Amino acid sequence: MKEQYLVDSYQKEYDAIVESVKDGKFVIMDNTIFYPNSGGQPHDTGKIINKSTGIEYPMVYVGKFDDKISHEIDAKGKPELKQGDKVKCIIDWERRYKLMRSHTACHLVSGIISKNAGALITGNQIGIEKVRVDFNLETFDKEALKQYIDTANSMIESDINIIDYDMKKEDVEQNPEMIKLAKGIPQGIDVLRIIEIKDFDKQPDGGTHVKSLKEIGKIEFIKAENKGKNNRRMYFKLLD
Ligand SMILES: [Zn+2]
Repeated sequence: MKEQYLVDSYQKEYDAIVESVKDGKFVIMDNTIFYPNSGGQPHDTGKIINKSTGIEYPMVYVGKFDDKISHEIDAKGKPELKQGDKVKCIIDWERRYKLMRSHTACHLVSGIISKNAGALITGNQIGIEKVRVDFNLETFDKEALKQYIDTANSMIESDINIIDYDMKKEDVEQNPEMIKLAKGIPQGIDVLRIIEIKDFDKQPDGGTHVKSLKEIGKIEFIKAENKGKNNRRMYFKLLD
């Protein structure tokens, strides 16, 4: 099964063939542009259309299970899709594009926190309304965190590219910048997809990203929380 959203994250429509349907609503296709819920980035929504009948099925949820991407559609009161059906896939582009911009912004802010404060990033959640970054740091200095958002905004203004490429696991492990993030790579994975904010930040990542920092637009600090011990949390949002 081809993950077309990794080949071209700007693809809004794509044709596919149904490979299997479970319980009338869990669809697996030969390829997909629907991003599954993973790595802190929420799944896409949208619809698939049976090309021979023209009937539309709204996309309810997309998840990755046992290495396959399962698309849960709303098929209530409609004829069931079946193996071999040709379908047109259309993603809700407004939602996806906002999530792409938010995901790249999350890497940018994480990179700034990690470089300036020496913090270890422990988690993130990308949302439509806000983005959350969790990190380990002894100090809790809200003003410094606000300044990191200012730094991010000035970097966004310059047209820095985001690129992706494959890297061997052993090379990832030898790169001090990525080694802490590379920990916990499941066994059996030899090649990792790297997302690089050119000459600034590199991380193994399976999400969808914009091509230039400029596409993010302006971001705004929302709040920072002290979660005890060295656990810190910060929220920010895109301004549009
Ligand atoms: Zn990411």
